[in-house]
Amino acid sequence: MEIKYSGPVCEFEVAGPCGIVIFGASGDLTRRKLLPALFELYKRGRIPSRFFITGVARSGLTVESFRQVVADSIEEVSEKASARKKEEFLEHCFYVSGQYDAPETYKNLKEVNKKLSQEFKTESNIIFNIATPPTLYGTIVKNLSLAGLIIKGQNNNPFQRVIVEKPFGRDIDSAVALNEELISWLDEDQTYRIDHYLGKDTVQNILAFRFANLIFENVWNRNFIDHVQITVSEELGVGHRAGYFDNSGLVRDMLQNHMLQLLSLVAMEPPAKFDAELIRDEKVKVMKSIRPFKDISSPSTIIRGQYKEGSNKEEKIKAYRDEDGVSSNSSTETFVATRLFIDNVRWEGVPFYMRAGKALKEKKTQITIVFKEVPHSMFVKDIKENPLEPNVLIFGIQPEQGVFLKYQAKAPGSKMCLYPLDMDINYADVYGSELSDDYETLLLDCMVGDQTLFWSKKGVEVSWDLITPILKEWDKSSFEDKKIKLFFYEAGSWGPVESEEFIKNDGRKWIIK
Ligand code: NDP
Repeated sequence: MEIKYSGPVCEFEVAGPCGIVIFGASGDLTRRKLLPALFELYKRGRIPSRFFITGVARSGLTVESFRQVVADSIEEVSEKASARKKEEFLEHCFYVSGQYDAPETYKNLKEVNKKLSQEFKTESNIIFNIATPPTLYGTIVKNLSLAGLIIKGQNNNPFQRVIVEKPFGRDIDSAVALNEELISWLDEDQTYRIDHYLGKDTVQNILAFRFANLIFENVWNRNFIDHVQITVSEELGVGHRAGYFDNSGLVRDMLQNHMLQLLSLVAMEPPAKFDAELIRDEKVKVMKSIRPFKDISSPSTIIRGQYKEGSNKEEKIKAYRDEDGVSSNSSTETFVATRLFIDNVRWEGVPFYMRAGKALKEKKTQITIVFKEVPHSMFVKDIKENPLEPNVLIFGIQPEQGVFLKYQAKAPGSKMCLYPLDMDINYADVYGSELSDDYETLLLDCMVGDQTLFWSKKGVEVSWDLITPILKEWDKSSFEDKKIKLFFYEAGSWGPVESEEFIKNDGRKWIIK
């Protein structure tokens, strides 16, 4: 009997009618990410014509001038769209100006939303996307509730949901406090904590790759995997976000959130079904199993670096300490490398090397799975003397999205000579423009009520629990101590030499495809 296989029917989700209110509508994130993503969704028919966008900010814009902001911000993505489509989209955009802590702002917003909800027949479904500085998250949610714009528990018919940007807290205490503040006004299923990395197709592909292919899941453990590397490198320095960054640092900005999310997807156990709560619970279990840091101030545990002057692709990059908004003796790290262990049966003894930095040689986010070396080979006389390069599997997250596998093969010719080859699948070649932007995915998920790709309350707290001790230790270190433990690197390099030595001391090396 012939077995016919077909893939699951995968229909694109389309959101139902709803209004979207963006706080911080005059800001960078709104302009660069939110508005283009919403337009793209509209253009592709993923949001229906029954929607509206209300921008809220202190800037004294009118509806007309806000529409100009929208038109400018969608210019690039709207190139291929018809003029009519753009016009239609702009006709759905409105603006309310006001202070974030003034009841008057919310009173106006309520009136505007009520009118728009009737005009666009959005059935009173509403999403509040808070894209302001984090200090305002609590204030805005509280005022929305006091004004009756949000009712705790109202997540269906109509729904009222809130998207909160990162960073979510700056240590465990502030994250718990913010969670408590939100919980007093919202249920967990109304709360969407963004980590835009999770919106990337290739990040979600890690789960498909692991759990829909028997051949990989069977070797996905300590018996076959030597170690894992997660690299998040950026080519640019801190630029216009210097003021924010100097108060934060890379451990907070990358390690606590994006990198731990990537790690948890690589390491989690399969849940019984593809369900938001089950997946988020499995990720929490992994994070809870990460061994707490020992010797937390020692460079044998964590390498902190900061970039000096240098250049990248012929562009000069000034030293971090010379950036506007950065103090001239700042000890904020722009580079971090560390090693984590997961204490469970699957991963016992397998190091997860994490490395992130700004002003590095290339922009790359990659997860590298390095398999163990073959213990014996008929092809070489003494495997210990002539080890074969092990299999390496790389998930490219950005800028190239894809999967890459290095394996041994016979080189052409009469002799049996081995040579490592690469199997390279680039998603852009396969899917082209079908790849969606991270914010498109996340905004649509919120509209359809799917929390799989958002941080849970527990997840945020567990990750901060792990990271806070190293932040506290650094904060209380003396200036002299920090001078010894902060390693400088030239902008445009791969970070401080101490980071190379850090992994070399374990008998390994950083791998970049
Ligand atoms: P902005 O600094 O551009 O601020 C957004 C808006 O908030 C501003 O236009 C301003 O509007 C208002 N605002 C700024 N500072 C203050 C203040 N001190 N008090 C009151 N209102 C203020 O931020 P972004 O757009 O860059 O980021 C928004 C959120 O998204 C932040 O939490 C950020 O961490 C997060 N984020 C941003 C990313 C990005 O690429 N920009 C990436 C990932 C996360 P007005 O003055 O008109 O009220």
